[in-house]
Amino acid sequence: MDNNKLAELIFPNIKGTAAELEDQFPKRNLPDGAYVTRFAPSPTGYMHIGGLYAAMISRKLAEQTKGIFYLRIEDTDRKREVEGGVNEIIQSLAGYGIAFDEGPFSGSEKKYGPYKQSERKEIYQACVKELIRKGFAYPCFCTSEELDQIRAEQEGKKVDTGYYGEYASCRSLTYKEIEDKIKAGIPYVIRLKSPGSSKNRIMYSDPIRKNIEMPENIMDLVLLKSDGMPTYHFAHVVDDHFMRTNLVVRGDEWMASYPVHKQMFDICGFEAPAYLHISPIMKMDGTAKRKLSKRKDPEAAVSYYLEQGFPAESVKEYLLTIANSNYEEWHAKNPDLNEGEFHLSIKKLPSSGALFDMAKLTDVSREIIAAFSVEDCAQRIRVWAGKYEPDLYQFIEDHREQFHQTIQLWKVSGKKIRKDVAKWSELMTMFDYLYLPQEKFEKKVSYEIEEKFGKEQLKEAVTAYKQDLFLNAENWFDQMKELGETMGYCPNVKEYKKNPQDYKGSIADLCSMIRIAVTGHKNSPDLHTIMSVLGEEIVQKRLESFLTQL
Ligand code: GLU
Repeated sequence: MDNNKLAELIFPNIKGTAAELEDQFPKRNLPDGAYVTRFAPSPTGYMHIGGLYAAMISRKLAEQTKGIFYLRIEDTDRKREVEGGVNEIIQSLAGYGIAFDEGPFSGSEKKYGPYKQSERKEIYQACVKELIRKGFAYPCFCTSEELDQIRAEQEGKKVDTGYYGEYASCRSLTYKEIEDKIKAGIPYVIRLKSPGSSKNRIMYSDPIRKNIEMPENIMDLVLLKSDGMPTYHFAHVVDDHFMRTNLVVRGDEWMASYPVHKQMFDICGFEAPAYLHISPIMKMDGTAKRKLSKRKDPEAAVSYYLEQGFPAESVKEYLLTIANSNYEEWHAKNPDLNEGEFHLSIKKLPSSGALFDMAKLTDVSREIIAAFSVEDCAQRIRVWAGKYEPDLYQFIEDHREQFHQTIQLWKVSGKKIRKDVAKWSELMTMFDYLYLPQEKFEKKVSYEIEEKFGKEQLKEAVTAYKQDLFLNAENWFDQMKELGETMGYCPNVKEYKKNPQDYKGSIADLCSMIRIAVTGHKNSPDLHTIMSVLGEEIVQKRLESFLTQL
């Protein structure tokens, strides 16, 4: 068979050659030891926490070595594409401080682009054309029924299933047969003509996994699909070569494909990059460890952390503790340094799946939030609410000052710095009585009534206070004491403790009942301030609705 003739028959319009591509995308001019890494997601709009973990590691390794970190969109399967998916990925990574040096966005130098696989069709085809010329690729016209038949035969004989060797019937088509089929419009794919032998084994090593022996690839895998788009395997080889990636950081589910990739790099005449196959993030399911699953675990999605309002710093810091177990020690020794200054060690990456521990993330996040200023918290909550909590956002917009006061109240109540909040949703659940419109508040509230308060007592206390809230009085608490005294509540808590039998309760009990009626909670920051934030009208409504629900 004249391979040149076959290459022209299949790709008459592809004029570019691999040699020209070599000139067009020359080796990058970077310092010795610089890593060129990439993040290569499919634009499905879904981002797994493992993707963020891999992106963070790739970005850090490039940054530490003065290399390049770029974004490549793997959109060869148009059916899975979601509109706005690319933007979603860029935005959510930006939220975690992960920026790209190059990628499919404006402002990026397009030197090694296009960065979307769907725009690189001619590049793949030029490389396949070259492989056909060299005798390493051929068209295959087998239908899915024929492939099923081959499979059934192999299963019957108990041999490896797949398209290879004697089973690869299209390997032996003549030029004439191929020409006739193409002229008849029969669809076809282009397959690798694997030079591998089942007798050979190859070795795989990376900085965290040493000398893993694997069988050489013998399968004639598909390089180009019938729509002319590449498969993942082939696109990986072509793109990582011409984008000059020298370290491929990817999930270890790809490790088994290493023999295929290595073979493809070799027959294309490209130098294979170094690999780092990172272990997945796992969780305990009963007594068994398993991968965090997109289908079963909401916390597998990066969007979960954003919706819940975990600060990006918390998630990043937690992922760093998974990546390098010495991170915590470093952080404790260097509390004033930013995580960006931590040197990530490839060798210290875990070689088996690390457990995702929500309790640990919560602890990390509490510390981080505790260190934010009131202004910082207010600003972050506003941004978060703008996306995920419309009622809260409206409240913030209408009551900027009160909102600020609320945060202040939370931050400074008590003597110690509070460490009771790990995510904004949690803080806002604690304060939902401040911003929920009355109707929603009524639906949601579940009053935390202490047992010691009887129904009649609550009714009496709330009715009495409701007559005059004296909210604007400067000496609100004195007036409260006076009101209490007329009803039989001791104005002095110590005094009350000495002679409880003489009173209905203390001033603290009276305030407690009003607090429950207004907020639903038995604990809140200073009651008078809370009510001032709410305003007289709403406080009246709250008391009213408490009495009717009692
Ligand atoms: N698109 C592939 C994935 O999302 C990329 C794997 C790789 O990094 O090469 O799994």
